[in-house]
Amino acid sequence: MRALVRETHLHPGALIYPLFICPGEGVRKEISSMPGVFNLSIDEAVKEAEACAALGLGGLLLFGLPAEKDEQGSGAWDADGIVQQGLRALKSVRALDSLVVIADVCLCEYTSHGHCGVVARDGGHYEIENDASIALLAKAAVSLATAGADVVAPSDMMDGRVEAIREALDASGLSGTPILSYASKFASAFYGPFREAADSAPQFGDRRSYQMDGANLREAMREIDQDIAEGADMVLMKPAMPYLDVIRAARERYDVPLGAYQVSGEYSMLQAAFARGWLEPERAMMESLISIRRAGADFIVSYFAKDAAQVLG
Ligand SMILES: [Zn+2]
Repeated sequence: MRALVRETHLHPGALIYPLFICPGEGVRKEISSMPGVFNLSIDEAVKEAEACAALGLGGLLLFGLPAEKDEQGSGAWDADGIVQQGLRALKSVRALDSLVVIADVCLCEYTSHGHCGVVARDGGHYEIENDASIALLAKAAVSLATAGADVVAPSDMMDGRVEAIREALDASGLSGTPILSYASKFASAFYGPFREAADSAPQFGDRRSYQMDGANLREAMREIDQDIAEGADMVLMKPAMPYLDVIRAARERYDVPLGAYQVSGEYSMLQAAFARGWLEPERAMMESLISIRRAGADFIVSYFAKDAAQVLG
């Protein structure tokens, strides 16, 4: 009876699993603050992807840990960058054709300073240069799509980057590559563990000049408006559980496909409670995911994707 009258459903095809690709071979390094999540060399990432495909997951979201970083973040658009190599490897395996492979587009994993854009310094003062940054982000998006990304996902939150990326993709014969924009991304304490996973913590300052204030729902709607107007095909919102009302408001207002990112801190705090026996893992995990779907997300990026797919069978 409960199954018959259930209003909200979760299925593996609506779940996306993030992968952190690092240099080397046979590397499988667990992230200390995210039990069960690893930095993976390309060969190991292919194995992980095969497990995801076998579980029926909808897709993967790729992040890169380059061997070297520089001031501009040139690893983001290097044709032989770590994610570009990973994309070519994943796309050469037929068993992975069922997975939508999404490439994160940002500079923070590749810049020596860890910011998402170009930094202009003047003594102790610094500023993130919006317009110089979007030209580099567009280059990165073209490079990732050329290497085989099915979707590019700009996560930087610079203004005007979706339009710049769309123009650059179209000019490069990649008009069929959709953009999943992180349109509503709040400056959040819940990103902490990710910065260890992607080795992308800012070396100075913080990201509040380009990420949103968690107190602002209407501003989130304006950011989504802007990204859709610039050509975003799908919208991603993060974090998820502390912002379910924002997801609900977006669902009521927009017809575009909406995704939510259950971020690292949401995962880590549940894992910490599981480790202490304070919460029942399977029930708490599934309840957290269903709440995000009920709020209105079509798909969910989650570090629980594989575990949840196992439960769903
Ligand atoms: Zn970034």
